[in-house]
Formats: sequence, C-alpha cells, structure tokens
Amino acid sequence: MLYNVAQLMKASVGTSLEYDIHEEDIQLDEDLKIVSPIDGHVRIRRTNQGLLVDGWVDLTLELACTRCLEEFEQPMHVTFMEQFYPTVDIITGTMLPPSEDEDAFPIDDHHLLDLTEAIRQRVLLEIPMVTLCREDCAGLCSQCGHNLNLGPCDCQPEVDTRFSVLQKLLQNGSEA
Ligand SMILES: [Zn+2]
Ligand SMILES: [Zn+2]
Repeated sequence: MLYNVAQLMKASVGTSLEYDIHEEDIQLDEDLKIVSPIDGHVRIRRTNQGLLVDGWVDLTLELACTRCLEEFEQPMHVTFMEQFYPTVDIITGTMLPPSEDEDAFPIDDHHLLDLTEAIRQRVLLEIPMVTLCREDCAGLCSQCGHNLNLGPCDCQPEVDTRFSVLQKLLQNGSEA
C-alpha cells in the first residue's frame, strides 16, 4: 500500500488526494491470517507538518474461538486516521529532523507513503480479547474436552465446585 506523495507535498495546505484500496494476498503481520482481499478507501491531505491520512478497510481474518478453539472467519471494518511526516525536504532534498509526534509515521526519502504499518497496527487493536465463533458458542467440556457445539458428551455435569475439590482429594488419597 504505497503512495507517491511528491506532488502532494509540493501542494498547498488542504489539498487532498483519494484512492480506492484493493490488495490481494497481503501479509500484514505473521500473527494475522487474512483470508480475503483488503478493500477500502484512503484520503491523504496536506497539512502544515506533513500529511493527514484517513480512511477505512474491510478484510476478513481467520481467528481461533476463545471457547471452543475452532478457527472461524471474522469480517472486520477498520477505520484509521494517522499523521505522516516528511523525512526529506521536498524542494531542497535535505534531511529533516524526525517528527516530535511519536505516533506519526515517516514518509520515506523517495516521497513514498506506506500505509501498511498503520493498517497493521489498527487491525491488531481492533481484534477483541475474547473472540467467539458465535455469540452462543457452547465451548468445550471441562472434563473430556469434547466440543459441545457438536452435541453433548457422556460426562456427568459437575454439580458443585466444593464437592469436586473434595472428590479430587479423596481420589488422590485413594491413589496414594
Ligand atoms: Zn466457539
Ligand atoms: Zn465431556
């Protein structure tokens, strides 16, 4: 997701360019399994300091369910708004000091703006802590590990946790 912004860096503040995003077979992160193309839209606006980039992407990730551990496909809509700063002066070609804004991304010395890292960070932030294959996922049996979405298992339901602790103690006692 590279954009040549040389012309835009020479333009007056407020000038903007817009692009549709369509990327096939893109690898954002080794921990992310993207199973769809990435489609979206980006707007790049000239500011005093550099460029303000905002837009959105749609993509589908393959995630593992927190409860049943099965993999499932999760469509995601991710919006972003980021500052990019120039690393070389567009007119003179001299190196510029790094931006004081620690969250801003660099535009490289060939005036190429790479959206990949910004989108990678946004996608990672958007993945919830608990990912469920479906809202009412039944999860795994705590005793035999059977996937309860596929139907019940033959285990006896655990009646009371205090009782089962007692039961374990008795079992350990009889094994000793
Ligand atoms: Zn599940
Ligand atoms: Zn079971």
